[in-house]
Amino acid sequence: MYRLDYFQQLSQRIGNVTVREQYDLDRHDERLRSLFVLTTVLALFYFSYTFVDIFLLRDVTFRSVLLRALVVGPITVFLFFYYKRPVSIRRKELAGVLVVCMGTVVWCAVLLGSSAPGVLDYFYAGLVFILVITIVITPPFEYSVYGSLFVFACLYTTIWFLEGVDSHYILNHLALGLPTFVLTLIANYRFSAESLRLYMAKVHADRLGETLSMQNAELEKISRLDPLTGLANRRALVHYATMLFKQPTAHKRFAVVIVDIDYFKPFNDHYGHAEGDNCLQAVASAIRSACSPEDLVCRFGGEEFLVLHSDSHLSAHGAWSLAEHIRSKVANLEIAHQKSPLGQVTISAGGYTAPVDTHTKLDEIIIAADSALYEAKREGRNQVRISDHTPVDVPYQRRL
Ligand code: GH3
Ligand code: MG
Ligand code: MG
Repeated sequence: MYRLDYFQQLSQRIGNVTVREQYDLDRHDERLRSLFVLTTVLALFYFSYTFVDIFLLRDVTFRSVLLRALVVGPITVFLFFYYKRPVSIRRKELAGVLVVCMGTVVWCAVLLGSSAPGVLDYFYAGLVFILVITIVITPPFEYSVYGSLFVFACLYTTIWFLEGVDSHYILNHLALGLPTFVLTLIANYRFSAESLRLYMAKVHADRLGETLSMQNAELEKISRLDPLTGLANRRALVHYATMLFKQPTAHKRFAVVIVDIDYFKPFNDHYGHAEGDNCLQAVASAIRSACSPEDLVCRFGGEEFLVLHSDSHLSAHGAWSLAEHIRSKVANLEIAHQKSPLGQVTISAGGYTAPVDTHTKLDEIIIAADSALYEAKREGRNQVRISDHTPVDVPYQRRL
């Protein structure tokens, strides 16, 4: 069976709910606000027309006042209370349409039996009820169809019973009533379909935005990771160090430890590049496990790693302990290295420690740690050195 695009779209799903349900939920407050305003304006119009009745239809004045006050009045008050109830906006709009239908019935009942000379001219005003239901309240299209059909039927049933009506008058009335009925329904359909289209475009844009920000976050994460070892990369180091040095906390110190695998070129040459990569991964996770989760551990170069650690009570001895802990973790891997005089994969480490300061330059601390590393290499490898411009009273050398 053919279904209008609008209804097809309404029955599609967004996650667990239909578009219709989500649309009603998301636009509830906005639609309710306009329903409140419109109902107030329409009620003022409707009740002020009592004066028109009094002026034009003197013979039914009493009936007009009575019906408007005793029937439509309480229903309108009830409608305002109903708007505050926790029901879907669709129901509230339907309630609005029903009250307009009731208003039409009452208006027709007032006019019926009046023999005032202006009653036939005044009856044209009944078409306003169709306008209200289709293009003023602009309820969902289906309610607009039911409501305006009801009003149309009510008006053209009443017309037969008005005094002085002939076929000429009915045709004249229909000449205006029929196009009003059809064209305003078309207008309502276009409005409903366009509102839904805009809503769906917004839903898609929001979803796209969410996907993009998730992908951005993922890319941001990836751009700071070294693909081989999964450790942070230099980019992340620069970011982290900038943040750390920007907010110096009283008495906070930091240590930087640069780790370099000993005799790694011979390892690669002897065991092959793939085995070299495996070794890099194993060493990377050993270093990571030797550090605390707050430390930044990054792959600094080919077979070089850097650890940035901050601590309020960090001494040169603390930095040395960290470097030494890393060294022994790697040694404990016991990866065979036939081309190393030490017989297995080892690392050398150089450290530097200083207070956190806004003037600290990453390049300078790397040079300081690098010179300590150079010293460790020169003095036989598989050892750590700390350079903080103060002598460190710890045993520098420790063999496997
Ligand atoms: P030293 O004890 O003085 O540090 O000697 P070394 O041989 O370790 O020093 P060098 O810096 O000359 O060697 C680094 C080697 O690391 C060179 C290159 O073959 C290897 N390398 C760098 N990046 C990678 C990588 O991503 N994978 C593998 N398998 N090897 C790498
Ligand atoms: Mg190197
Ligand atoms: Mg090396």
